[in-house]
This record gives sequence, structure tokens and C-alpha cells, in this order.
Amino acid sequence: MVTGLGFGLEMGKERKKAIVSIVRGQDMKDKVDRALNLIGGMGKVVKKGDKVLLKPNLVDGAPAETGETTHPELIRAVAEQAFLAGAKEVYVGEGESYDGPRAALYKLIEKTVAPIGAKVINFNDEPFLEIPISNPVYFDKVRLAKAVLECDVLVNLPTLKTHGRVGITVSIKNYYGAIPREDKGKYHRLDRVEEAIVDLNLARKSDLTVVDGTYSTIHWGPREEFPETHRLDLVIAGFDPVAVDTVSAKVIGVEPRTLRFLAWAEKRGLGIAQLEDIEVRGLSIEEAFRRATTTAIEYDNLRHRHIRLIDCGACTGCSGRIAALVFGLKDEEMKEDVYVYMGPQAKPHKGPGKVFLCGRCAAPTFYNELEGTYIPGCPVNLERLEKELRALGAS
Ligand code: SF4
Repeated sequence: MVTGLGFGLEMGKERKKAIVSIVRGQDMKDKVDRALNLIGGMGKVVKKGDKVLLKPNLVDGAPAETGETTHPELIRAVAEQAFLAGAKEVYVGEGESYDGPRAALYKLIEKTVAPIGAKVINFNDEPFLEIPISNPVYFDKVRLAKAVLECDVLVNLPTLKTHGRVGITVSIKNYYGAIPREDKGKYHRLDRVEEAIVDLNLARKSDLTVVDGTYSTIHWGPREEFPETHRLDLVIAGFDPVAVDTVSAKVIGVEPRTLRFLAWAEKRGLGIAQLEDIEVRGLSIEEAFRRATTTAIEYDNLRHRHIRLIDCGACTGCSGRIAALVFGLKDEEMKEDVYVYMGPQAKPHKGPGKVFLCGRCAAPTFYNELEGTYIPGCPVNLERLEKELRALGAS
């Protein structure tokens, strides 16, 4: 178990449990209705006359059957519920260009929601607004789509995916589609994507999340190179985006305690990241569970012959960042096999090869039986690791 991430409450304080529903089925409308009923219904957040914004994950532009994008039928089913609860206007909004590979998907969504009176909007048609953030993880101001900031009710409609850099992309990460393109590049360049997604949620917390868990996939690298998709037929819903991400992570086999952004989000009051404080209704996590989706570490190991990443319970400060570094490296020319250990349960390496022990959790001083080159830091010093790997022939 990773320690020091700041999960949990101060001693003696009690809090209300978050409620998250999980349902399985073939009929999308039935599934969405049941998931919403189990948490108390759309009427808990939508009032008569409200302007409601639905924020699906469409950025990739691939068909929903890949697991990358939110299914048009789920968007429609949620829009119907919003109108039933009294919404005056319902918009479906997403960023990026609406032409090129995304055109077909956007047209399909327009066609699907138009008959019930919902409208599709492009966040890029209006200027993004800058918001100051108090008590940020890192960014004291962020930019978000005007429609996200000006709606009465924000309903987040993400998909259920593992993610190379931040572990999972479900509710909290879905805000990445509501920011200017140059900010996405900036957060990546600064190596602060996890920090940014929490700060974006602090600018405007979503009121409801309905996860399209029809499929799960991995969002990492070129889809044609690794087109993994699994059918789960789930919908996961809740008013607390942190609790929804916590449950979603467990459902696809990712340990929530390894996701730094969840700890940071919980600490700043965005929601609950501890399973014992979440009431799961409908299916249990065990009933919904499918260890189906490849993680970034596993993906990197499939792509490399000489670099082997060994995740021993590391949080994303090491696992996501090391995975992202190694993803960009070629190892064909390496003369020696390299084993990169990370996490607090690192075991002594047996057999030949060069060993790196990464991050404070894997420090050999904590476990004097571990042997290898120690790369310090919490999170691990990536520049040091990259230098070592390049010196061994990685390019
Ligand atoms: S050393 Fe790495 S795995 Fe351990 S807590 Fe720090 S960032 Fe996480």
C-alpha cells in the first residue's frame, strides 16, 4: 500500500457516505434510468428551468464501440432524464475541432439528441474563461469552457478507461476535453497533468457523473497499435466525482490508493476516495469487476524487449511518470536487459540484468536486501532515470 498520499480524515471526524450505483444491462435507457434511480434521481440536482450541460468524452473521435468515447444512446438517455426533471435547455458540449476524424461522431450525436430537443455545442466556438483557484494542487488559475462555467447543472459523462499517465480516465480527467488545446500541451510539458485535472475540477465541480461503462479500454498510444476493448455493459453513477472514480478504478482493477489525483481531490473537498466511506448500490464492485484492461506499465512491457517495468504497488507519481518516460524510449539497441522496480513492495531481483530501484518507496535503505542503482525522489527523479537508461543504449 502506498503511504504518504494524504488519503483519509482527521481522527474523530465523521462524514456522510457518498453513494455510487453500478448497474449492468443491454438496454442503455433502462440501465441509465436504474443507475439514476438508485442514487435518488436526476431531480436531486436538476430543477425546473435549469440549463443543463452534459460533458461526454468525445475527444478521441473513435466510435463508442472502441470504449474511447461516450455512447450516443447514453447521452440521449441522460438528456431525457434532465428534461423529465424540468430542465429548460440541455446542451451536449465537447472541445477540439468538430471536423476531421470527429465529424462522424458529432453528427451521430446531434442526430441522436436533436429529436428530444438537446443541442450539441463546440466549446471552441466561445472564448475559454480564466478562473482563480484557491488552495490549488499546483495551478492558481485555470481556463475552462464558458459553457462549463455558466451552466446551472454540469453532468459529467465519461467513459471507463485506464490511462497511461494518470492511471484512469473517468470523471476527474474528463475535464481535459473542456480546456484550450494549448493548455493540454502545457500541462503535459510541465509534467503536471494530475495536478491540473484536480485544479480544473476545483474551478467547477460536476454535479452528477454517469459513466458509460459499456466498454473499457486503455487510453494510451496509437489505437491501431493496441486496440484493446472489453465489453462490460455497465453504467456507474454518483453525485460525488471522486467517489465515482474510486469505484470505477476498482471495477477495472486499478487500486484507487495508487492514484495521486484522488488523494489530492479528496483533501481539497471534492469528494470521497475511501471505499469504506462509499455506499455502492446495485451491483457490488466484486460483481461488476473485470480485470480486463491493460495498464500503462503492462502496455510498455509489451512494447519493449529490454526494459522491464516492475510495479510493486507504486502510485502514479512513479508508475504513470515512468510509464510515460519509457513509452517514448526505444530499446532495440540496448545491450543489457534492464529491470525498473518501483513501489513499496519491491522484492529483491533474481537473475541477470541491470536493476534500478525507483523512488523513495523502493529505497534500498528501507529494505537492505534490495540491490540496484537507486534513483531517488518522491516522485522519482525522471531525468536521472532517463539519463541512466540512455547511457545503457535506450534512445
Ligand atoms: S516514491 Fe513514488 S511510488 Fe512512492 S509515494 Fe513517492 S511517488 Fe509514489
